[in-house]
Amino acid sequence: MTTETQQETLGFQTEVKQLLSLMINSLYSNKEIFLRELVSNASDAAEKLRYEALENGDLYEGDGELNIRISYDKEAKTVTIADNGIGMTRAEVVDHLGTIAKSGTASFLGQLTGDESKDSQLIGQFGVGFYSSFIVAKSVDVYTRKAGADSSEGVHWSSEGEGEFTLATVEKAARGTQIVLHLKDGEEEFADGNRLRHLIKKYSDHIALPVIMQQEAPLEMPAAEGEEAAEKEAVVLEDETINAASALWTRNKSDVSKEEYSEFYKHLSADYTDPITWSHNRVEGKNEYTSLLYVPTTAPHDLWNREAPRGLKLYIQRVFIMDQVDEFLPLYLRFIKGVVDSASLSLNISREILQKDPNADKLRAALTKRSLDMLTKLSKDEDKYQTFWKAFGNVIKEGPAEDYANREKIMKLMRFSSTHNENDAQSVSLASYIERMNEGQEKIYYVTAENYNTAKNSPHLEIFRKKGIEVLLLTERIDEWMMSHIFDFDGKSFQDVAKGELDLGEKENEEDKKAQEEAAKEAEGLTDRLKECLTDKVSEVRVTNRLTDSPACLVLNAYDMGAQMKAIMEAAGQSAPDSKPIFEINVEHPLIQKMDSETDEDRFSDLANIIFDQADLAAGGQLDDPASYVARLNKLLLELSK
Ligand code: ADP
Repeated sequence: MTTETQQETLGFQTEVKQLLSLMINSLYSNKEIFLRELVSNASDAAEKLRYEALENGDLYEGDGELNIRISYDKEAKTVTIADNGIGMTRAEVVDHLGTIAKSGTASFLGQLTGDESKDSQLIGQFGVGFYSSFIVAKSVDVYTRKAGADSSEGVHWSSEGEGEFTLATVEKAARGTQIVLHLKDGEEEFADGNRLRHLIKKYSDHIALPVIMQQEAPLEMPAAEGEEAAEKEAVVLEDETINAASALWTRNKSDVSKEEYSEFYKHLSADYTDPITWSHNRVEGKNEYTSLLYVPTTAPHDLWNREAPRGLKLYIQRVFIMDQVDEFLPLYLRFIKGVVDSASLSLNISREILQKDPNADKLRAALTKRSLDMLTKLSKDEDKYQTFWKAFGNVIKEGPAEDYANREKIMKLMRFSSTHNENDAQSVSLASYIERMNEGQEKIYYVTAENYNTAKNSPHLEIFRKKGIEVLLLTERIDEWMMSHIFDFDGKSFQDVAKGELDLGEKENEEDKKAQEEAAKEAEGLTDRLKECLTDKVSEVRVTNRLTDSPACLVLNAYDMGAQMKAIMEAAGQSAPDSKPIFEINVEHPLIQKMDSETDEDRFSDLANIIFDQADLAAGGQLDDPASYVARLNKLLLELSK
């Protein structure tokens, strides 16, 4: 028994306590993943040691054969996972096994609902790591010693996974970390060689380090009656490597199964869901590298936190160098996970040097292209692509602004709701829009609105419906901003149907135009009168060519900021420029005609204001003075019932 000194008991950080109690219930149906998590941590610890040993070979302490050992004791009901990796100091133990250091932990915990299936998915995406031990263990002992530290500086951490843990300093000759799980009653099944071997194969085959178990002892033959038990020879049990123990990305594509790719993704990403697609490539030549890139199926909880860690894992000639290298992919591809193993970067590269290395720039361009190609390929499978687009479409929409060079490729990946669709599915690509364009149509028409119904029922679409012209319905917050960064696609320019003069191309024939001009002239009296009455609200009043059913609509000047952009600016604490809309009236509409014949100036003003406010409402706008609108409308309603 080693002596333990400097004992103390510490409380878990509140978040850990919350996570522990939630996790144990929600992940119970998937309890075997604890082994994968612990092996994954052990493998990370070995990689960290290998990296640090590049500078200081003494850290190996004469033992450079890194591996992970798994053993069990049926009687004691324990499973032990040991590595000879980097180990932890006492301070690191407190930090890593007493808190959760991940960004967005609070918001993640806030999203948990108590609904097991939903929560287990969220927890899966968040990643539970070491704490998953407590799904099957009633208590856990961790013995660890940092590589390079004295054997007297071992640390013993112990906990029952409730409120607190104890710490003590112990003697530990072997460098690295040993984790002993004391299985809960009912979980003894894990203290079994076959079960453990099976789980290692299933979840950890891709781990580059050998995962070793001792051979099983042969079954003892019971001694025959009357016979003295023969003196037993001591059986020497050999070590056995259970996994493939080669870095997965170094293997040939044809030698790696789907399941292995998926498991490797889970190891990399801490996501429990299978990836939706991946791309594995080896490039030879001057800038030699291997990349394995994955697209998750579901969005991580911190997708919209721009500070959240992201990026690829960098290896140089098989040696792990660093995690979360965000130089290799643009921000709009931040959801992509994976590994890059380069043969042309220098082994002692740092983040600072990486930022200036021209080879890194080349890698970034190549990996960006690979990612876009992978998504293009995925888009051929419409169902899968819809899943992808729902999760990450709004991130892709940041692309054209960030990555001008790949604008066209990114735009091909976009999908929108459209008047062509029966429902709100965002499934129409720009290419399919163009394919369906009417003869002579020169522009890609779109409308932006807060939501699908507002867009679909917008009065601005009336003329398009009448003429059978498709309009894209852009209903995401980011859409208007995105449209300010793209101008054309495949030679066709974009046109917001609620902005500027409406130009329907050749669809609008000469006769229509003439009729329109005449109507405008005839209505001059009315438009002037309206202009005067609504002078504070509108920049211009004119006869519309957009409407068939509604009395009026609001139109923005071609370069005015729309409602979504204003909302974005205001949310960012900036004041949006003030601009007055153009008020367009439909002179065929009985309400407009009634207004025209109204001689009482007060009544005319009420009607004008009501119709103006209604046009604002129909476009999804928020009235500046809703109470006055209601008062005016009620006054008219009362007159009706007189
Ligand atoms: P994650 O692995 O996602 O960071 P964990 O909760 O699994 O989260 O582990 C927390 C931290 O504890 C790790 O980041 C690592 O620093 C440390 N750790 C866990 N297991 C080991 C180990 N076997 N050897 C060294 N450090 C470890």
